[in-house]
Amino acid sequence: MLNIVLFGPPGAGKGTQSQKLIDKYQLKHLSTGDMLRSEIAHQTELGLKAKELMDAGLLVPDEVVIGMIDNQLNANKESKGFIFDGFPRTVAQAQALDTLLSNHLTSIHLMLALTVTEEELVKRLLIRGESSGRADDQDEAKIRVRVNEYNTKTAQVATYYEGQGKFKAIDGIGDIDEIFSALCTEIEQVG
Ligand code: ADP
Repeated sequence: MLNIVLFGPPGAGKGTQSQKLIDKYQLKHLSTGDMLRSEIAHQTELGLKAKELMDAGLLVPDEVVIGMIDNQLNANKESKGFIFDGFPRTVAQAQALDTLLSNHLTSIHLMLALTVTEEELVKRLLIRGESSGRADDQDEAKIRVRVNEYNTKTAQVATYYEGQGKFKAIDGIGDIDEIFSALCTEIEQVG
């Protein structure tokens, strides 16, 4: 199995690179943001609760996203591996993920972190907001809340994986295919 955490602030390009990575390595893409948006679209109780926090740019509670990941790991036992996108976003989520994966007799092999400056992130998200229809992409103040959530709660997750010797940073600014090939180079050093 190959389990990768694709890490970086909102707008770093995790969704774009995940798509290319799953095509190449046939991994299952687990994006908690996509799962939450699907819950909202289906107007589930969970979705209704998460929507308010998401629209404000705040994180949803750890137990909500940990439960969704647990379900997906159980539903995809035959997968060759997973790309975690937008998860874990707190150290508590990272610890829970380690426990869940060890129950499945596996672990995270690598965290790939896309680094992008805050000004570039804000610019990208405002452009994405013109077509994504996402309330959290359309207003600079909400984008800054998301970047602040990242800086205060999520950035420490990198330190967590650094402590396990699994952290690699990749420059997230530049040509999409060049960034992709830098990610692949790191992945191929794992196997
Ligand atoms: P982006 O790539 O722009 O960061 P995501 O689609 O990953 O967006 O997430 C959108 C929103 O969904 C976040 O701002 C947050 O409210 C919620 N969310 C997604 N994943 C998590 C998570 N692991 N923990 C808490 N909240 C999450």
